[in-house]
Amino acid sequence: MRIKQLENEFGTFDIDFSATKPFDVVGFGLNAVDHLCVVPQYPRFDSKTEIVHYEKLGGGQTAAGGVLAARMGLKGKYIGKVGSDDLGVFALESLRAENIDTSSVLVEEGARNQYAFIIIDKASGERTILWERDRRLSFRHSELRRADICSGRVLHLDGHDYEAAIQAARWAREEGIPVVIDLDKAVPRSDELIANVDFLITSANFPPEFTGIADPIESLLALRKHCDGFLAVTLGAQGAMAVIGNRCERFPAFKVHAVDTTGAGDIFHGAFIYGLLRNWPLDRIMTFANAAAGLNCTHLGARGGIPPLSEILELVDAGIHHSG
Ligand code: ADP
Repeated sequence: MRIKQLENEFGTFDIDFSATKPFDVVGFGLNAVDHLCVVPQYPRFDSKTEIVHYEKLGGGQTAAGGVLAARMGLKGKYIGKVGSDDLGVFALESLRAENIDTSSVLVEEGARNQYAFIIIDKASGERTILWERDRRLSFRHSELRRADICSGRVLHLDGHDYEAAIQAARWAREEGIPVVIDLDKAVPRSDELIANVDFLITSANFPPEFTGIADPIESLLALRKHCDGFLAVTLGAQGAMAVIGNRCERFPAFKVHAVDTTGAGDIFHGAFIYGLLRNWPLDRIMTFANAAAGLNCTHLGARGGIPPLSEILELVDAGIHHSG
């Protein structure tokens, strides 16, 4: 599908979502098990630091986005691979517990599930991630099933297994299903991938990395040559920025007490999809996504602080933003 370009932030995309799909949102991407370790301050090299709080929680961009959607009452399906170890079992159970359909998840025999140790600085909530991914967890594009990929009203991708992601985006587009992608680093075929998506919402470092332009505004605008969809970037405590016409519009973050920013972008995307499915005006979608992501930062973990819908709407109405 080709989405319409908005003239201002109060416009809506007016998407005619399919009424016959079994799922509202299908997420295809990686999942991980996060070991979250809160420390008083980031350790010095060759030192010992006591962990003041520890939690083990599920993570992964499309998986976390799907959990947000499910908590908002949407029907979600997750497609990805898990290892056959105890971490894989944990990852799958954490999705099933949220009523997310996992019937198309593949279990890779003998592989360890992706996992991460996340060191969180108690004072700022900023995190440092140490991760490992067994190569066998890559989803080959021959393992994808079109019927599964196209079983939702929206397709949510992360682009980690980019060959498969390109195939998935092509199928969805052929069937008129809007494709939302969350990218945080430029990969060898990023150009092909972003040419096939409708909503490109990246981390702050993607536009400069992909375009070679250091300026955040210029690099975001330069993505237009490569993607004819909606373009936006998330900017942490500064909120988000989107391209409208030939200018960039800012949407400030909410003032929250951030204890852990892990998964903030994942929740932003999940909330964006929620607003999109409701055909809200862009300004409301972005404000809602900033509020949901900001509230998630007030608890540990990618999915640890997903707020109830009422709490997000309360914050949207209160409208207390960071100055950025
Ligand atoms: P990513 O981790 O994917 O790079 P960001 O760090 O840009 O994502 O954060 C995504 C969103 O989370 C932001 O656009 C903002 O809405 C929210 N957010 C992140 N950090 C904070 C913070 N310290 N205070 C308020 N909101 C935040």
